[in-house]
Formats: sequence, C-alpha cells, structure tokens
Amino acid sequence: MNTADEEKGLMACVHCGFCLDACPTYRETGDEADSPRGRIVLMRGIFEGKIPLISEEMTGPGSAGYHLDRCLGCRACETACPSGVPYGALLENVRDKQEKVAKRSLNEKILRTSLLTMLTQPPLLKAALIAGRLTGGAIPTPLARFVGLPDNTRMPIPKSLSVSSAAAPVYTHAQGGRRGRAVLLTGCVMSVLYGPVHAATVRVLAANGVEVIAPPAQPCCGALHGHQGEMAGAIELAKKTIAALEGENADVYISNSAGCGSFLKEYGKLLKDDAEWNERAAAFSAKVKDVSEYLSELGPRPMTNPINARVTYHDACHLAHGQRITSPPRQLIKAIPGVTFVEAAESDLCCGSAGVYNYLQPKMARNLLRRKVANLLAVDADIIVTGNPGCLAWIQQGVEGESLPAGTRLPEVVHPVELLDRAYAKT
Ligand code: SF4
Ligand code: SF4
Repeated sequence: MNTADEEKGLMACVHCGFCLDACPTYRETGDEADSPRGRIVLMRGIFEGKIPLISEEMTGPGSAGYHLDRCLGCRACETACPSGVPYGALLENVRDKQEKVAKRSLNEKILRTSLLTMLTQPPLLKAALIAGRLTGGAIPTPLARFVGLPDNTRMPIPKSLSVSSAAAPVYTHAQGGRRGRAVLLTGCVMSVLYGPVHAATVRVLAANGVEVIAPPAQPCCGALHGHQGEMAGAIELAKKTIAALEGENADVYISNSAGCGSFLKEYGKLLKDDAEWNERAAAFSAKVKDVSEYLSELGPRPMTNPINARVTYHDACHLAHGQRITSPPRQLIKAIPGVTFVEAAESDLCCGSAGVYNYLQPKMARNLLRRKVANLLAVDADIIVTGNPGCLAWIQQGVEGESLPAGTRLPEVVHPVELLDRAYAKT
C-alpha cells in the first residue's frame, strides 16, 4: 500500500462505531483499543508520527502493537463499515512496518518464523505432522512452553498423509458437455492437510462439465505471509504463483481455501505499483474464484445421492468478509437432496483460527473457539461445513474437545465440496 492510499484509507474512518459489534475481539474484551475503530486510531497515530513505531512501544502490554497483534484480521469490520474503510489492507500495511522494527522476544521470533516456514513448505509440514503423530498431535510440553504456547496445544493430524499429498490429478476430463477449463490452486497447507478436499474439488468440477488442471509445481500463494505483514515474502510468492500458472490458458483459477482465495484476488492491488507485474497480477486476480462461487455462477448440475442429515455452515472470514461470499455455499448445500439446513447463531463470527493467530494469541483464539463450537452444537447438526483449512482444523479440535453426554455422536466437520462430492458420487 502506498502512502497516499494509506492516508486515504485511514481518513475514511468517521469513527461512527458501526463496526464495533461485528468485531470478535471487541465483543470478548469490551476494550475500545481491541475494536476496529480503536485500532484505526492507533494506526493513524503511527502514520502521523504521534505513536512511535519502535520495539517497546509496539509490543508491550497495553501498547499499540499489543492491540494490533490481537486483531484477527477477520475483516468483519469491513463488511460492517458504511464508509468503505479498507481495514484489511491497512492492517497488513501496519504489520509490515511493525515487523521491520519490532524487537520481539527470541521465543516469539522462533514461533513466528517456524510457523510461517513450516506451513508454507509442504515437505517441512509433512515431516512435522509425521513426527506429531507420535504424540497424537500434541506439541511436547517443554517445546510448547519455550515458544509461549499453552501446554495442551495440538497440531491437526490428517487421517492419511500419503492419501492427502497424492490426491489432485494433474489433468481431469470434463464429464458431459464441457463448460469450462479450470486450474486448481493447490497451495501449501491444503495440499498436505486436506488433499482429499482437492480430490473432491476436482471430481465435483468434472461432474459439472469442467476440465481441471492441477499443475504439480505450485508455490505457496503468499497469503499467510501477507496476513502476518511479511509483505516482501508475500510479493515474491505472488509473482512465483502468477508465473507458474498464467500460461495454463484457464478460464478460471479455482481456490478451495478462503484465506488463499481472498489474497489471490488481491494480487492486482498488491502489485499495483510494480510496472513489470501490475497488468499480469490484475489479469490473474480477475480469474480467481472460490469453488462455491464458480459452481453457483455455472449453475450446478442436479445431485443424485441424497444426504439425509442436518447440516450447518460456518462462514470462513476470508470468504464472508474478504470475498463477500455467503450465499453460494449455503445455496449449494441446500440443493443437496435430503439435507436439512440449519443456520447457527453468529455463523459469520471468527472461530479464532485466523491463519496462525491460534498459535500466536492462544487465549483469545480459544475463547472464540468455545463460543463458536457452542453456537454450532446448539443447532444439533450432524455435519458442520466450512470452506477454509484453518477453520476446518480448529473447529474439528473444538468439537473433539467437547465433553458431550454419553452416546451423543460428534458432528462431522467437512469442506463444502466434500459434501457435494458425496451427493454427486456414482453409486
Ligand atoms: S464502521 Fe467504518 S467508519 Fe465507522 S468506526 Fe468502524 S471503520 Fe470507522
Ligand atoms: S479485523 Fe476482525 S478482529 Fe480485527 S478489528 Fe476488524 S473485526 Fe476486529
């Protein structure tokens, strides 16, 4: 974000407070400094040089950095704001400045660096998960304590790592009449943790007449870096992603991860001031669609297998607020024969996962998870559906951690395309 855009964005806030009730951290603490309006005042103070951007001022309890760190980046405030304040971009911008100067403790630096490195490099993530299986996903207590995590912190362990990583075929024919040609964005975390979701995405697209290419050599899209304010790393990965995929002659780039899709759609803005890349980035972003968005626009073919279940839906923040997509996934779920759709309270309130937030701010993240799981369980659903890997893993942990009455079946937690895949499966 250049200085003119930053100033314009900050000045757009008229301090009306319409965003306060939408903000998960403000709802939890009631502290103005944990609200979007309060954080914008802090960002404006930093921009105007009234609040210094130095280490202690940025990270000490009660300081600007403390409250900015506690922001989930969920962007619910953007949806609520009548003045069009680009909160997400402002946050990423200030975090980028903050990370260049903030003197964080050694333990925190190790945690931040290792999370970003591990999550964005599939071989490292896979190795960590294989090691994590030995402890059932639990991070050993001495290691957790060293980096400041609660004792019972767990990694999400997929059922089958080998199935996961081999799940997206490089080329899949369209079935029936051909309606489009898509590149599946496989990313980093999804390809290791949720390979079966990639496989389901390919099958559902093919069943809807879409030819699918999943090039094997895809880099991380840079979303995790961008959301943490590591903009140099994010820009480098964005350029690599564009260069790797723009020659595939696709009608659409399909994302099945809300956080990645939201960031990929903003490559044009990210590279706006780069003369060599701005047009390529804008052209790339214009073709990015979430899988639920694309299927809804295409018009889904009829599903033949009934799923007789009560189903509820959690809005991933970067789908509902980052991309303003709330209706397509619900419509697709409701179109499955046999499904009884039940809306949960606060379905668009963040679950606390928010990229790596649940590791960096475990207390707030766990409070939000408890609130989310209570709302989801209250509708007595058999299946909880959500379209982002972080939400899937975090809500799964939350549901498994509930002590339900004996004999009560825990709801399944699945991605929307996994449900659609069952409804399209040939029996
Ligand atoms: S709703 Fe928008 S204009 Fe109003 S306080 Fe929040 S960010 Fe500022
Ligand atoms: S991004 Fe989310 S947590 Fe941060 S200020 Fe906005 S609503 Fe609150």
